[in-house]
Amino acid sequence: MRVSKALIPTVKETPQEAEIPSHKLMLRAGLMRKVAAGFYEYLPLGQKVILKINQIIREEMERAGAQEVLMPIMTPAELWQETGRWEKYGKELMRVQDRHERHFALGPTHEEVITDLVRRELKSYKQLPMNLFQIATKFRDEVRPRFGVMRSREFLMKDGYSFDVDDAAADKTYWIMVEAYKRIFKRCGLTFSPVEADSGLIGGSFTHEFMVLADTGEAAVAMCSACDYAANLEKAFGVPTAHAATTAGGPFQKVETPGKHTVEHVGELLKLPAQQFIKTLVFIADGKPVVVLVRGDHDVNEVKVQNYLQAAEIALASGDKVYEVTKAPVGFAGPVGLKDVRIIADKALQGGHQYVTGGLEKNIHLTNVELGRDFAEPEWGDFRNVISGDGCPKCGKPLKVGRGIEVGQTFKLGLKYSQPMHCVYLDENGKDKEAVMGCYGIGVTRTVGATIEQHNDADGIIWPIATAPYQVHLLLLNPAEPEVAKIADQYYEDLKQAGYEVLYDDRMEASAGFKFKDADLLGFPISVRVGARGLKEGLIEIKRRREKDVMKVPVADVLVKVKEVAEAEWKLCTP
Ligand code: ATP
Ligand code: MG
Repeated sequence: MRVSKALIPTVKETPQEAEIPSHKLMLRAGLMRKVAAGFYEYLPLGQKVILKINQIIREEMERAGAQEVLMPIMTPAELWQETGRWEKYGKELMRVQDRHERHFALGPTHEEVITDLVRRELKSYKQLPMNLFQIATKFRDEVRPRFGVMRSREFLMKDGYSFDVDDAAADKTYWIMVEAYKRIFKRCGLTFSPVEADSGLIGGSFTHEFMVLADTGEAAVAMCSACDYAANLEKAFGVPTAHAATTAGGPFQKVETPGKHTVEHVGELLKLPAQQFIKTLVFIADGKPVVVLVRGDHDVNEVKVQNYLQAAEIALASGDKVYEVTKAPVGFAGPVGLKDVRIIADKALQGGHQYVTGGLEKNIHLTNVELGRDFAEPEWGDFRNVISGDGCPKCGKPLKVGRGIEVGQTFKLGLKYSQPMHCVYLDENGKDKEAVMGCYGIGVTRTVGATIEQHNDADGIIWPIATAPYQVHLLLLNPAEPEVAKIADQYYEDLKQAGYEVLYDDRMEASAGFKFKDADLLGFPISVRVGARGLKEGLIEIKRRREKDVMKVPVADVLVKVKEVAEAEWKLCTP
């Protein structure tokens, strides 16, 4: 494609609305434009990236034994009512009515629709396993659409669903899909980690999120520095670091801590480390107060607490509520003397001594507090977030907490949908049995954003070759000189002939400097720069986008050099 004929509206200024690199760069490099909050148009370069990701997904799904289908975006309310999700999904579900006032949802995901399809077509165990996927537009009316394609209201998703005869068979399919996902993201040139995630209250199910590691990610992930353990912070477990005090002291004492109500401030006053504190937090779970205790250097993990309590809703109590429950102002709550309320405590507190807690009075803390001596043994559990430096639960080496972008998720569903929707097959003995399901999503448009988030520098995008809109950017530096233009034209033909996807910057009006800047911004892996100055010496400049230096290559060697760089690039996208 010649730039002079293409719609590639690059922009020099950083768009104000964009907060993170991928959002800025997708606008600046002319990959997309905004139509409304959370709705985008993909321009030719953006669409090319999407098609390449789709192609990789298709090949790997096929390899894993899945077949492609296409389901409607408009999905009838009756299906959602069968599983209760018409209510449960809440405002995120975009609802529309047809001329007969029948209700539909614009599909945010398609478990109901596919289960309905399969229950109509599935007769015998001989048809199983069945594994179907589609690549289609999804709608979710997100509360806060933001970060461009990362959290949009309309986005492209690959969603897949598997049906198996029993649990063991479903597990086997699940792990085949996990392997396929690893291949997909590797082929996209991404550094990622499949992490164990929280699957909520559904028994017998499990799930992995595929996280592209990037500082701007919305999710926190705990990863081992030595082994392959990785888990979403919602679920991660860590072995706590040592206690500050390991033997009991004398009886507890009241100390005055006027105006100090954080671990940090009281710690400074008493000259004691955060590990020696007990934090006392009050939550309201399904309307009932629950006190949660964690060590001073730890934070409560609400998801873990919610799962333990089997609560539908949970929230931190307001100041008034805290007072009602503990009779202490916020910052001075503590377990000693606390009555008539359920207390649960994080296991990391076990084995510690001489704790500091709130004194249940304004401006009072207690020191030398002993578990089991000064207050009754609470219910123990894992209620805290892992912190960097905790031990890995698998190998003991230190964990690191970092950030990731969830580009995909695999989910063993079990009977969650096949039971209420009665998706059954006849087993070998002629008996009805429910199919065991799994579901598997990849955010295609979010993967575009995540790729840029992981691969960019101050000048622009650095595409992995597998998903780059074009592999080679050919720059004609002196378009007004016919001799130079003729040679560049020839390279354009030769490079295409050699099988490369080439964008040819043949613009008359743009300066060489402008073209260099665009090449860096667009970020194709290889650029070939044809200019009068180099040609005088019989040289062409070739630049690998991810490297700083420009290579000067004899005219005759250009194709050989391009091939060499391209091969090195493809290696980075090979599982
Ligand atoms: P998140 O926790 O980020 O909201 P999710 O867990 O709700 O995502 P899934 O239901 O697992 O998302 O959907 C599968 C994939 O679709 C996600 O892994 C993600 O890549 C993508 N996705 C989900 N919501 C959005 C969105 N609003 N915009 C873009 N992509 C999305
Ligand atoms: Mg998810």
